[in-house]
Amino acid sequence: MPGMLYLVPTPIGNLGDISVRCRQVLESVDFIAAEDTRVSLKLLNYLGIKKSLVSYFEHNKAVKGGLILDRILAGETCALISDAGSPAISDPGEDLVKQCAQAGVTVCAIPGPCAVITALSISGQSTGRFCFEGFLSTAKKSRREHLESLRAERRTMVFYEAPHKLRNTLEDMAAVFGPDRPISLCRELTKIHEEVIRTTLAGAIEKYADDPPRGEFVLVLAGAPEDAAEGASAGDAAEMVSRLMTQGLSRKDAIRQTAAELSLPKNVVYDAALSLKDE
Ligand code: SAM
Repeated sequence: MPGMLYLVPTPIGNLGDISVRCRQVLESVDFIAAEDTRVSLKLLNYLGIKKSLVSYFEHNKAVKGGLILDRILAGETCALISDAGSPAISDPGEDLVKQCAQAGVTVCAIPGPCAVITALSISGQSTGRFCFEGFLSTAKKSRREHLESLRAERRTMVFYEAPHKLRNTLEDMAAVFGPDRPISLCRELTKIHEEVIRTTLAGAIEKYADDPPRGEFVLVLAGAPEDAAEGASAGDAAEMVSRLMTQGLSRKDAIRQTAAELSLPKNVVYDAALSLKDE
């Protein structure tokens, strides 16, 4: 009988977020595959768990994936953990899951900490439809191409970002999506210095102009508004003003942005916003 692969999410900052089920799985498996065994040892020591560890990370996954799969096929159970958050989400694991699935091995994902979902839920942006874009490239050309491909994206967009790249990314985003596009910068989630900055791209650029960004970030960017070319109505304008205001913009800024993006006269948008107020 083949064994099984468990995907075990680990805290993204607050150790208290490890769940009872994650602990039970880590205690029960035959071995743990970890992204960085030194990081994972700290967590296992905190939990009082002693277990055989093998490393599985970006640059050894081709070799280690096969060895881990062989052990599972021989009947062992394995828990995969990354440094923080859910394995296989911008973390090693995707390939191992594919290998296991192809080999008919059962993969069980335990729900738990994940920076995308934590950020999206706290962002104040629309959550009904969203797309996860992972990390943007460090190379300017491919970063801009990636962003250009999202120019017409209506869904809320979620990005992972490193602090030292943040300012360049915000500049590129403003160039592609316009300075008034709402963004929520979700920083150091679940940690002591957790912070959510709900602003626009221009506001974010201004904030970090003289104050270098620090810590871990998830960027939650509003999707493109309805297309003005299709003949926006007062109803569209009212809906957009309302949406922008729930995203944190003042009434005045929401009216200004709606008028610009829907190519409507400001007084039409203003009247539409008033009808909103009356309701
Ligand atoms: N697999 C992980 C997950 O599910 O959350 C993500 C791993 S990815 C290599 C690391 C990125 O996640 C960071 O660069 C940052 O963008 C985001 N991240 C992780 N922890 C975070 C936190 N506590 N606050 C904000 N962003 C975080």
